[in-house]
Amino acid sequence: MGGAVTGYGLAKLGRRVLFIEKGLFLHGEIRDQRDGCANLDESLLAQLADGSDERPEARLRSGQWPLRLQGKTSFGELEFFAPLGCGSGGSTSLYAAGLERFSPADFHPRANFPEVNDSTLPENWPITYEDLLPYYTQAEELFRVRGTHDPLAQGERAMLREPPGLSPRDRHFFESFGRLGLHPYRVHVGFEFVEGCAECAGGLCPRGCKNDSGRICLLPALERYGASILPLCEVLRLEAGKSEVREIRCRRNGGELSIRAKMVVLAAGAFMTPVLLLNSKSNAWPDGLANRSGLVGRNLMLHASDYIAVKPTKRFSIVGPQKSLALNDFYHSEGEKLGTFQTAGAAVALGQIMQYMRDVAERDPVWWKKLASPRPVWWRKLSSPVIRLIALAAYYLFIFKNAAIWASIIEDLPYYGNRVIPDPHARNGMRFEYRYTEELKTRVQSFRRRLAKALGPHRMIVLSGENNINYGHVCGTCRFGVEPETSVLDKNNRAHDLSNLYIVDASFFPSSGGTNPSLTIAANALRVAEAIHEQLG
Ligand SMILES: Cc1cc2nc3c(=O)[nH]c(=O)nc-3n(C[C@H](O)[C@H](O)[C@H](O)COP(=O)(O)OP(=O)(O)OC[C@H]3O[C@@H](n4cnc5c(N)ncnc54)[C@H](O)[C@@H]3O)c2cc1C
Ligand code: SF4
Repeated sequence: MGGAVTGYGLAKLGRRVLFIEKGLFLHGEIRDQRDGCANLDESLLAQLADGSDERPEARLRSGQWPLRLQGKTSFGELEFFAPLGCGSGGSTSLYAAGLERFSPADFHPRANFPEVNDSTLPENWPITYEDLLPYYTQAEELFRVRGTHDPLAQGERAMLREPPGLSPRDRHFFESFGRLGLHPYRVHVGFEFVEGCAECAGGLCPRGCKNDSGRICLLPALERYGASILPLCEVLRLEAGKSEVREIRCRRNGGELSIRAKMVVLAAGAFMTPVLLLNSKSNAWPDGLANRSGLVGRNLMLHASDYIAVKPTKRFSIVGPQKSLALNDFYHSEGEKLGTFQTAGAAVALGQIMQYMRDVAERDPVWWKKLASPRPVWWRKLSSPVIRLIALAAYYLFIFKNAAIWASIIEDLPYYGNRVIPDPHARNGMRFEYRYTEELKTRVQSFRRRLAKALGPHRMIVLSGENNINYGHVCGTCRFGVEPETSVLDKNNRAHDLSNLYIVDASFFPSSGGTNPSLTIAANALRVAEAIHEQLG
């Protein structure tokens, strides 16, 4: 998101832009194939069944990060396929296109958590909500965001297009939640809602429906504004003197390549950007490039997200948009700062359930055993693991058929010890460490309790276990700030002490907020593009 939007902004302002991308250029090929969705059940099932999602080249072709990520959390050592994109559009090629603003209070994070002493939460972001406001509006216009006004939102109204009508089930939720004293609204999303769209997450959209940064920014930058792209080109390190980046060292077609530019904008995502910097040690930068503060790679944040099935009180038709509703009644609630609650998108279907179960099994084996426990007698007779998986998914499909799957997004806080570390022996040349604190656990439980109480007659079933870390929302590993001692970037996202290095992916976040990160990354990228343009003169 950060790279494509900044590049688009600069190219539109008349600058010559080259995008360097580790993955494939996917958007040229998929742009006009309007004959079907890439990600619906059959292809997911096929991938799971033939194991093609284990093959790096197959993963790259579907826009996914090719290799398993390695790390250690409070739940143990992990090696798993994280929900991360690789290729044009980055993770937005896979995203669920929830495009919400942070609240004005998110820009003053310390005040929201007065009792937490061991977090590195700063008092303030170096910019205010008002500074970002014109760019939020531009980003909403650019990504053609649809939805309705959040009645609890502070500040100016978002710039929204009209969403399609609700399904009878979601109309029932909307009215019933309102009667219960909650404040539902139409979630803000970047979908065009073409006929038959299920608002998928996890896959590329070949039908021009999902407004990802590849289609909305990268393609116009290339086709209209003269930018270029080098796909399948992996940046390995940056060569820099004391005050300037001189060279970008890359790997392409089995060889090494060196690229020079007046300005270098790093946007490899909050897992990989710090690794690149820490691998760019030199005499001028003995602890890693831009790392005088010692904070590069630290303050890793991920959000905690529960998937929760909410049942209507009667059976209703579910025909209509699935990514439909949200509520922020628990964003700030009775002195606690929690986060948003929104429909997760995509009707409950076999492929999604199977994918979800496999993800849970990989990330949280203890919970997986619990999830897999309601076994009928015939269960033991099923010998093949694939048949067992399908049978279990069918069982859950039967239970949850009419339910809507909602997701919470709960703010996690920055801690010095939560970090990304280069490791030449690990699969991606890196691993991460993340302590899931008691403080976070308490707020997650509080969210679940408050929700169960607030939803009244609606039965809810929490589908996630204790380990509800949301790896798709990684952020924070190169925070921006005012003081060079306590931040990596200045308020315009330029590395302190380096005149031509900017970082625009989610790693700039000094706190994670309680909602989807992408609109804030995009708005900020538009702001930074202007700052770079101004600096270039
Ligand atoms: C399934 C899923 C659903 C999501 N749903 C939502 C949602 O509804 N709303 C929301 O706000 N967010 C959502 N997100 C998160 C959102 O997509 C990310 O927060 C956002 O894309 C992050 O932007 P970024 O610029 O930090 O990095 P990315 O978008 O991840 O881009 C990083 C880019 O850098 C490239 N790269 C990495 N290393 C190198 C290298 N060494 N050399 C060259 N290129 C490199 C990668 O291939 C990639 O293209 C979702 C994510 C996923 C995976
Ligand atoms: S976003 Fe909609 S139209 Fe596009 S692939 Fe997903 S389900 Fe299909």
